[in-house]
This record gives sequence, C-alpha cells and structure tokens, in this order.
Amino acid sequence: MVVTLATTLVVAQKLIDRGKIATLHEHATRILVRAVDIADQTDLILQKARSLDTVPCSAEDLDQLRLLSFHSPFVRDVARLEKGAIACSAAWGSLATPFALPAPHHAIAPFRFWRDITSTPIGEVRSDMTAHGAMAVVTAPGAFDGVGFADPSIKTLVLSRDGSYVFRSFGDGTRLLKAFRERALGELNKYAIAHCHAVRSICVVQSSPHSPLWVESWGLLAALVFLGIFAGAGIGLTVSGYFAKRNAMAAQLKRAIDRDAIRVMYQPIRTLQDRRLVGVEALARWSDASGKNIPPDQFIPLAEQMGWLDALTGSVLRSTFRDLGDRLRSDPPFYVSVNVASEEITNRHFRNYLETLCREHRIPASRVALEVTERSTADYVDLAMAFQALRDAGHMVMIDDFGTGYSNFAYLAALPLDAIKMDRAFTNAIGTESLASEVIPGIMSIASALKVMLIVEGIETEAQEHFLKELHPQAKGQGWFYGRPALAADLPAS
Ligand code: C2E
Ligand code: MG
Ligand code: MG
Repeated sequence: MVVTLATTLVVAQKLIDRGKIATLHEHATRILVRAVDIADQTDLILQKARSLDTVPCSAEDLDQLRLLSFHSPFVRDVARLEKGAIACSAAWGSLATPFALPAPHHAIAPFRFWRDITSTPIGEVRSDMTAHGAMAVVTAPGAFDGVGFADPSIKTLVLSRDGSYVFRSFGDGTRLLKAFRERALGELNKYAIAHCHAVRSICVVQSSPHSPLWVESWGLLAALVFLGIFAGAGIGLTVSGYFAKRNAMAAQLKRAIDRDAIRVMYQPIRTLQDRRLVGVEALARWSDASGKNIPPDQFIPLAEQMGWLDALTGSVLRSTFRDLGDRLRSDPPFYVSVNVASEEITNRHFRNYLETLCREHRIPASRVALEVTERSTADYVDLAMAFQALRDAGHMVMIDDFGTGYSNFAYLAALPLDAIKMDRAFTNAIGTESLASEVIPGIMSIASALKVMLIVEGIETEAQEHFLKELHPQAKGQGWFYGRPALAADLPAS
C-alpha cells in the first residue's frame, strides 16, 4: 500500500515535470525564432544602409534611412555614427550636437552592441542597438512582444552562445546566467533549459520555479489555505481595504458612464499661420461622488481595465454630437477629434456604432477624427486595416502623442493616416538645449514626406508658436496659448 502510494507520487511528479519542461521548450523555441528574425532583419538593414551612396546626414540620406526603417516592425531607428556619437538618424533627423554613446557593451566582429540606449529624444524609452561600421540599428523595445510568455515566474535570457553578453532579459536572470555560464543549469532547483541557434551565436535560456506535487495538488492546497486563514487575516483585511476603495471608485465611474454623466470639454485647434479655428479635441471630464475632479489619466485606464472603455467612448461621442451637432453640420468645415483606444477601432462593432451615431445626428464622417496614441499595442496589420476602414468611411485618423511610444516614428507614420499630433514634450523643449528640441525638424520632415497634417500639442507661448510657424507654416496647433479645454457654449466662434 505504502509502496503503491509512493510510486504513484513519483510518477505524478514526473508527469508534472515533463509537462513543465515541454512548455518551457516551446516558449524558448518561439523566442529563439523571434531573436534570430530580429538579428536577420538588423543585419539586412545594416547591409543596405552601408551600401547607401548618399551624402551622410543630408536630407536625401535621411529619407533613405527612413525608408530602411520602414522595413521591419522590430526596428525603432536607423542611425549614422560619427566618432562614437549618433550624428543623425531616421527618427531624430540631423543633430547639431551629436548624441554621445558610451563604449560598446559587447562586440562580435564585425558587430558592436549596446544595451539600454535612450531611444527617444524625450528620454523615456530605452532600447538596444547594433552597429556595423558607421551604421547602427536601434531595436524596438517591443520587438519581443507577442511571443507569448505572460507568466512572470518564468525567467528568460537571450544571450550569446558563450554567455558573455545578454541581448535581452525578462525577469531577474542573475542566477540563471551564472548557472548557464558554469554549464550547471541542472543544479538549479528549478526547471531550466537552454536552446541555441545552429549557426548564429544566439541562445535562449529559461527557468521556471520547480512545482512539487503538493503545489499542484488541490487537496493539499486547500488544507494549507485553511491553516493559513488565521495567520492571513491581517493581510487579508489590508488587501480587501485596498480593493474596496478601488471598487468604490470603479462603481462610481460605472454609474457615471451609464448615466451619461461623463462631461466633455473641447480644446481649440488652430492654424499656426492665421490662428483660424479649424476644430476641437473632445476631452473627457469626471468628478467622483465627493465632487473631486479625477484626471482622465486616472479614470481612462481604470475604465480600460474594467472593460468599460467602449461604453465611455460611446458616452463621449453622444455628448459631443449633442453639444457640437449644429457646428459639425454647418459650414465652414469644423471637426471634432475624439480619443479612442486601438482595441476600439480594430473592433468592427465599434466602427459600426460610430457610423450609426453619425447617421442619426446627420454629422458627416469627415467632421469626426479619431486619435489613437502611439503607445497602442495593437498588431500593425490590424491597426492599418482599421485605419483604412475608418478612412474609407470618411473619417480622419490621427496618431496622438507622436514621438513618445515604442515604435519607430517613420514606421508608424507609414500607416494610412491623416495627421500626426506631435507630443507636447517636444514643444516644451523649444528653446532648451535638449535633444527633444533638435528632433522637431525631423518630425516635421516626416510629416511632409508622408504628406500628412501636423498638429503640434502643448503650445503655451507666442515664442513657441513663432518658432514652429517658421519651420512648418502649414502646421496646426493646440495648447493653452490657443485656448484651454472649455464647455461647448464657451467655445469661440472663430
Ligand atoms: P491627449 O489626447 O494628448 O490630450 C491633450 C492633453 O493635454 C489634455 O489633457 C489637455 O488638457 C492637455 N493640454 C492641452 N494643451 C496643453 C498645454 O498647452 N499645456 C499643457 N501642459 N497641457 C495641455 P487631459 O484633458 O488631462 O487629458 C489627458 C489624456 O487623457 C489625453 O491626452 C488623452 O490621452 C486621455 N483622454 C482624455 N479624454 C479622453 C477620452 O474621452 N477617451 C480616451 N480614450 N482618452 C481620453
Ligand atoms: Mg488626444
Ligand atoms: Mg496628445
């Protein structure tokens, strides 16, 4: 009897182990395929960039670099190096003060590698870079997105075959790295595996915590939970207090959405040239039960997490059409721009609802623009199809907060769109020595090359308007200088 039980336990444990290891192998293979794909595309782009015969950093050269950066969603930027600094790049344009780089973090002839290079001029995003000679390719931080390893307990390293350089890591892989270098993966008290490419010096090493039988067994787990209830009561109260507060806010937000109590303010958008009012952006406003204004940066993500964003956008659209209907139906052309998530516009039902609302209110689709942030995580092909469908229906489609996200500028701007809205961080940087101010001409030339409208966000002063107007007279602008968000009734006539 005891022997049978022991054998059963051993066999059960072996089955669990086998399942876990098979899952790890599957993950690691997917990641290795992606890593090799990224390396292949990087090589190809570097090779093409090196064979360009344009004058380095000239306008023609920058156009070529931009075309090259369209080639791959894994590439954020293509840059030219000069004396250990970035002299110009597809995204940043030509830099008056080259962006100095540290010594390469690794080299495998003929390539040099860097990790955690600041890859946007406003400094928020860090990515990896590979150089060959004077050309460099910056890998998109999201290059490994979608390979499907959501389990945070799994640690992953993408590294060179000898383990001397880690290209990417997911989770704290310090012990895993040490074990790989010492060829001692088996000694970790974990499931650990390594996969290497046959030719390239790229390996993927992964580990996940060991799952002893009792962890997997519900009976034992239930007994442990029961014992733990008494000790856990204190923690439980704290945790439930937190959730109660969050739920109270969520419940209030839900009520506001259901009762169309989300208010909408409208911020003017004007031509830089003659400050003519061409449209407005609809911005959602909500105050909780105590009357406190909750900023959209807080309640929009909450609505998104709870799955209520569609309902919220619906409410914003209805309010907007009610508030601005007359103006949107009349001449001269005047448009409203509404913020939407990529998950909404890629949904056919959402697009159908938008068309129904436009019809009901007799508002031409051309007067309703949709803004999607550059941080959107949707698949590029889905996004491109959604943009096209909206444009076919007559709407304008715009990329919001341009320059702040993870993908390369040029790649995003190649989507079928009508306008890019340059993030206000760039406007803020005008007149400073920062890199952000230097790339403004680059963003403008992307807009010109792609023949899309440029809307500059966050114009607060006449000096900023003047600076921008000189560079891109046909641009439009939005910001406190042109008007704060206001109630529809308080909007100026022109
Ligand atoms: P956004 O779409 O980039 O909207 C522009 C934000 O910049 C607004 O903040 C606006 O009040 C602010 N702003 C405008 N001009 C200036 C300026 O000159 N200086 C400064 N410092 N700020 C300026 P707000 O209203 O707090 O909205 C924040 C974000 O919340 C929006 O950024 C948008 O992403 C999101 N949001 C707002 N309403 C909605 C909505 O109805 N639906 C969705 N999905 N998102 C929304
Ligand atoms: Mg916006
Ligand atoms: Mg914006």
